[in-house]
Amino acid sequence: MSNCVIVGINWGDEGKGRMVDLLTERFDVVVRYQGGGNAGHTIINEKGKFALHLLPSGIFRKGVVNVLGNGMALDPENLWKEIMEVRANHIDITPDNLLISERASLLMPWHRELDQLEELRLADKQYGSTKQGIAPFYSDKYQKKTILAGELRDMDALRIHLRDLLEWKNLTLTRVYGAAPATMEQLDDWLHNYCEPILPFVCDTGAYLKKTQTEGRSILFEAQLGALRDLDYGIVPYTTSSNTLASYAPIGSGMPSVRIDEVIGVVKAYSTCVGDGPFVGEMFGPEADRLREAGAEYGAKTGRARRVAPLDLVATRYGVELQGATQIALTKLDVLSYMDRIPVCTRYRLNGKETDRFPFPADIDKAEPVIEYMEGWHCDISGIRRWEELPEAARKYVLMLESAVSCPVTFVSVGPERDSIILR
Ligand code: GDP
Repeated sequence: MSNCVIVGINWGDEGKGRMVDLLTERFDVVVRYQGGGNAGHTIINEKGKFALHLLPSGIFRKGVVNVLGNGMALDPENLWKEIMEVRANHIDITPDNLLISERASLLMPWHRELDQLEELRLADKQYGSTKQGIAPFYSDKYQKKTILAGELRDMDALRIHLRDLLEWKNLTLTRVYGAAPATMEQLDDWLHNYCEPILPFVCDTGAYLKKTQTEGRSILFEAQLGALRDLDYGIVPYTTSSNTLASYAPIGSGMPSVRIDEVIGVVKAYSTCVGDGPFVGEMFGPEADRLREAGAEYGAKTGRARRVAPLDLVATRYGVELQGATQIALTKLDVLSYMDRIPVCTRYRLNGKETDRFPFPADIDKAEPVIEYMEGWHCDISGIRRWEELPEAARKYVLMLESAVSCPVTFVSVGPERDSIILR
């Protein structure tokens, strides 16, 4: 297969991890190009059940090379812990199958602390951060106050750089938030425990990707979160602090000129959202509990109960456009099997008018959902592997989505396992 990006179309948690896990057998290289450990992919395969936060989902396939690109918030502490966890399940992780961009900026211990301090300060106006330090990290990156993974090669020079950063950062910690200052001893421990162990994986990933493309091998780019969480085009400020769009993959991977051939947009058969912010069509009470239970909708990173809502065609169409999706993978169709009739948000009502345009962020809260109902299929579909064998009502549901967003649905997932998939 040619080069392909797998992205989320909505709020994240669409099931991208299971799609990457499925498709990695068709690719030679899997690349993460944005975000950090603030979201997670849950992957179930023959080796067990894993919650990956930083490692690319290709880590389980023999022969696949995994790249952590420069666009990521590279957290050495969590990365090293995750490597050790996965290794404990007898999965090899070596500099042959994991490459870390020398241009990736490192998420520092103080980023996590600042994230918590700021959410505390915001009190009931919190942005709903996962407190993994992502926003403070990207702010510092834009201020050029971070260190690059490649700097780990020269510890003496790095310590001088770190001392300067420490002096600067302590002004914020102590004078803005009244917190205790960070110390060089703490940073030395951090370097020793988490940075030195990852150094063997650090290299020029751009050169590697260029070679991969020249040799005609294929690359899969794996995004985190979804289009509505994009820093520029999402529901600001309830977004993440990086660009979750497919168009950022070349820049965040290390090879800005890399060719993208396909964009697979992952859409869940209903909507979920973690954290705060407007969520048109949100379901509450027993109806919401039932859907949340049926879909096991609890955050992979935080364990937080996810908010649930019907499939939102307005948001999904916007997401498909933003991602430039060339095909859709629809996940969790099996979860809807219990419903007699299935609600779908087809339009929004805003300022007295119906619209199918996704509103400006500050207006979303004023929008109300226009709900229509599709017929349910009243049977377990999780064992079905062929499109023709799906009940007619389930096929109608898929075709409705396809025509509403003008993009072909090429995969229908009916269970979390690797083979619970219908290819169209
Ligand atoms: P990601 O971050 O986009 O990969 O999504 P998450 O991992 O947070 O959420 C996807 C969850 O749904 C995981 O627990 C998957 O194992 C599970 N899952 C994925 N596809 C399906 C499906 O088609 N049916 C069911 N029942 N579960 C699925």
